[in-house]
Amino acid sequence: MTENAALPDDRALTDVIEICRDLIRFDTSNFGTNEGPGERAAAEYVAERMTDAGLDPDVFESAPGRTSVVARMSGSDSSLPALVVHGHLDVVPAQAEDWSVDPFSAEVKDGMIWGRGAVDMKDMDAMILATMESMARQGQKPKRDIIFAMFADEEAGGTYGADWAVNHRPELFEGATEAISEVGGFSGTINGQRAYFLQTAEKGLAWLRLTAHGRAGHGSQINTDNAVTKLAQAVANIGSHTWPIEFTKTTEQFVSMVEEMTGVDFDESDPQVFLDQLGSVAHFVGATFQNTANPSLLKGGYKANVIPGAAEAQIDVRTLPGQQEDVLRIIRELAGDGVTVDPIHLATSLEVPFEGELVESMIAALQAEDPGAPVLPYTLSGGTDNKSLSRLGIAGYGFAPLQLPEELDFTAMFHGVDERVPTDSLVFGTKVLHRLLTGY
Ligand SMILES: [Zn+2]
Repeated sequence: MTENAALPDDRALTDVIEICRDLIRFDTSNFGTNEGPGERAAAEYVAERMTDAGLDPDVFESAPGRTSVVARMSGSDSSLPALVVHGHLDVVPAQAEDWSVDPFSAEVKDGMIWGRGAVDMKDMDAMILATMESMARQGQKPKRDIIFAMFADEEAGGTYGADWAVNHRPELFEGATEAISEVGGFSGTINGQRAYFLQTAEKGLAWLRLTAHGRAGHGSQINTDNAVTKLAQAVANIGSHTWPIEFTKTTEQFVSMVEEMTGVDFDESDPQVFLDQLGSVAHFVGATFQNTANPSLLKGGYKANVIPGAAEAQIDVRTLPGQQEDVLRIIRELAGDGVTVDPIHLATSLEVPFEGELVESMIAALQAEDPGAPVLPYTLSGGTDNKSLSRLGIAGYGFAPLQLPEELDFTAMFHGVDERVPTDSLVFGTKVLHRLLTGY
């Protein structure tokens, strides 16, 4: 399956660094509204590089400035299922005064590129483009069609990016059954051994509004139907509920592989002992063994001696793959009578198999560059554009390969201050990605 796997040319290994820096210099801050600078300039840059590589990019806007770009590279056998290789062009905003460098200048120091998007995810965007260009220069056709996509708006759930593309331009993804993108393929250290984390599952999300209605009235009266009391009870019940530890296929495989590597067994009554074995990766996986429901907002009333007729709370619920309905039912029970529970925003969970030809090819590509390193499946507690693509029946993996220095707290880089990525990691990742896309 990987017999054609080839390395990038030398030029790609220097270009990847420059492309990443170019992309960071486009301020594509996403404030969750359409007020920001948008992704158009970055998308046009990407489209130009795609055109220069002989592809025919489709550039489209869901709203003014909210631009995505998709191009297909034909494989030698287009009857094979196509692979989507996607990134997002937007970034979360950066408060320049908190940073030790200008977040949009893409400075290189200490062997690293510093700037907003350096790991989320202009690093992978650059690796994708450098790989695409190297394949074009060397005339290396992939086996199957590869659909390169760079989306707007991932950081606000993809409404103006991947979700819009799936709704309005599904034909661009015709024939695709699998996808790779961000938040997986990076290295961490377990028990002194470097290992790679391949993302095969994403938790679901439900932001809920709780509304309690009661009898409004004077604060001096007896009131047995007080909206604030009912709401407070519901919030306390939900916030203090203990969700049991439950393994999915992914976490079961993950735990057993870590147990084997460390000799430390997972103890349900004290998962921390197990998590301590994982170094900084613990932040990524700590919340993936159970559902969570955190009250995050309270609103009600306007004066100490007036009982309001209604009160509101919001809850951030994150669900294990396949459990959203069950969790919502439990939350409604915990909220009790007289409190309505309405979704503000729902996003599906995902879980794809840690087996099959694509997974084997990803592991082979990593291990060709880092012989013997274990590759573990893991669950992401957040979400990616793979959620949107899943509506087209596309199985999405998190695979943005990076070999990282042990001392870099990679998990803190996502949306963090002084976000940065080692240039060596980009070179490593481009080699791995190139092997994968030429060999699979
Ligand atoms: Zn991202």
